[in-house]
Amino acid sequence: MECDKCGREAVMHAAYSGLHMCEDHFCESVEKRVRRRIREDNLLPDDATPEDPETWVVGLSGGKDSVVLATILHDTFARAPRVELVALSIHEGIEGYRDESLAACEELAAELGIRHEVVTYEEEFDVRMDEVVEEDPENMSACAYCGVFRRDLLSRYATRFDADKLLTGHNIDDEAETAMMNFLEGNITQIAKHFDASLGGFEGGCSERSRGESEAFVPRAKPLRDVPEKEVALYAHLRDLPAHITECPHAEEAYRGEIQELLYELEERHPGTRHSIMAGYEELAALAASEHRGGDGEFGECERCGGPTRTDICRKCDLLAALT
Ligand SMILES: [Zn+2]
Ligand SMILES: [Zn+2]
Repeated sequence: MECDKCGREAVMHAAYSGLHMCEDHFCESVEKRVRRRIREDNLLPDDATPEDPETWVVGLSGGKDSVVLATILHDTFARAPRVELVALSIHEGIEGYRDESLAACEELAAELGIRHEVVTYEEEFDVRMDEVVEEDPENMSACAYCGVFRRDLLSRYATRFDADKLLTGHNIDDEAETAMMNFLEGNITQIAKHFDASLGGFEGGCSERSRGESEAFVPRAKPLRDVPEKEVALYAHLRDLPAHITECPHAEEAYRGEIQELLYELEERHPGTRHSIMAGYEELAALAASEHRGGDGEFGECERCGGPTRTDICRKCDLLAALT
């Protein structure tokens, strides 16, 4: 097959758009989608200048998604540095697995010349995921604990580093899976949160929230969310990025796995399914957020850690109490 743009040999075919692309045109198209997302989500205010840049904290796990995101962001702002990037990695206490991926993070940060910070569950919470899995007092998946702890650290450290934005490398497959899970679970609160947490809600939602008493809300963004997982992997491979591709040994989100398979099949038979799910979901989330706002209790401070919560004790402190 030939590239639809230049006639050279194609390295990929995107069924959802019908395009065949060569290596160069494919990489360019991934980069363009990320930059368009940054523009359309208004991530970069006009008053950010090389003299007074924004600070963006990027969650860097060493997996292909965050490695590709950090690389494209770095390349985007290299010539006119209106954004200063800080890579933030989290060691969950998963022996072997996380040590290897942290090596990938260090290699990348050194290559790009960006600041790199590492925080650990052990130092922050006195827990290690390897032990949490054994104990499992709440009888839930490892990913459920891990997700709560990771979100807490990402947002807390983004605040500590004075970040203007907190960016994560979610791709369109991750986002469509989460959307389907929330939809199938009938979880409107969670759907509304998608609007608040993504930059779709940036102008109305997040900025309003972050003006509140709690300083804990650094607006979050997912500039890779238009790019399918396979394309992220191909991009990392073609550009020979130091991505660690092994799956977490504790990954066991059974329901997410089922949804993932369902979406693979649907996408195969009906290319474009993920894109249409996300287009509809974002509109739905905006509606849900406007309905929910104000009716859901205000954010207060957790009695134990001072983090933002709508209850007396936040979810993270609940889980930590169960673990110790
Ligand atoms: Zn081409
Ligand atoms: Zn708390």
